[in-house]
This record gives sequence, structure tokens and C-alpha cells, in this order.
Amino acid sequence: MREPRAIFNSASVPPERCVFCRIIRRELPSHVLLEDKDYIAFLDINPFSRGHTLVCPKRHGETAWDMTEAELGGLFTTASEVSKGIVRAMGADGFRFVQNNGEAANQVVAHVHVHVIPISLAQKGRFMDRLKLADSEMGQIADSIRRELSHVEGK
Ligand code: AMP
Ligand code: ZN
Repeated sequence: MREPRAIFNSASVPPERCVFCRIIRRELPSHVLLEDKDYIAFLDINPFSRGHTLVCPKRHGETAWDMTEAELGGLFTTASEVSKGIVRAMGADGFRFVQNNGEAANQVVAHVHVHVIPISLAQKGRFMDRLKLADSEMGQIADSIRRELSHVEGK
């Protein structure tokens, strides 16, 4: 296969300074919902809806192209598992997976991640703006999702 062209991202940083690597190393606080040896899921700090979650591979890579097929498979399998707990806990009717690669796609954290964004039928077709929730509410949301994910292996 030909080499893919480079994907530009002005937010590129080495793992030492990467926000998501720092969350993984517990150098920064976050509301972690699920974690195993390869993947982690935590609440987005500036969510589009209550329960908006980011799922990341623990291994630092910037875009989907930096991941192996097996890693991508594991990432989306984890995101799918997490989405079930989120949808149940939030009483949502559906969800979006969003995965941005590169500056042009609005990727602002240069560590591969899948957004899992729960949506209710009442929000169908509506513009979704970012929410700023109190940390206490973020904690309650995380607790309710964790309860729904308590059966997941490797958690
Ligand atoms: P993207 O535009 O796909 O790179 O999305 C990056 C996401 O990371 C945004 O939705 C941010 O709100 C989120 N984010 C940035 N910093 C943090 C953090 N410290 N904890 C949780 N989410 C974060
Ligand atoms: Zn990283």
C-alpha cells in the first residue's frame, strides 16, 4: 500500500504533554467510566449532551492511521460497549460516534479518541451546543453510567 499523506494537526504534542495521556496517567482529573489495559473511557469536560464520553486507546497515537486494525477494532468495540451503558443511564434514544482526525476535521486533542454522544428523540435534528456542567453533576452522571457498566469485563 502507498504511504498515506501526513495529517496536519497544530495540537500535536509528545505523550508527556498530551492531555489524554496525562488523564491516563492520573496526572489530570477526569470522571473515568471504564478502563482496561488497552482502553479508557471518561466524560468529556465540555459535553454536547449529558453523558458525552471519550473513548481512547491508552497507547498514544494521533489519528486512526496511527492505530493497527486490531487497535481500531478494540477501540470501537469498547466504544460500543460503553454506549450501551450511556444510553441506558441517560435514558437516551440513540447515540453518535464521532471520530475527528486532523486540524481540518476540528481535532483539538491529538490523541486518538471516539466521542460517544447520547441523543434523545426530543433533540433530533436540533443544533447541539456545548454544556458546562458542575463537577458535582458530572460526578452523578459518571456514577449512573458506571452502575450500568458494572458487568463489563476488564473494567
Ligand atoms: P476533538 O475535537 O475530537 O479533538 O475533541 C476533543 C474533546 O476533548 C473535546 O470535546 C473537549 O471538550 C475534550 N476535552 C479536552 N480536554 C479535556 C479534559 N481534560 N477532560 C475531558 N475532556 C476533555
Ligand atoms: Zn496521548
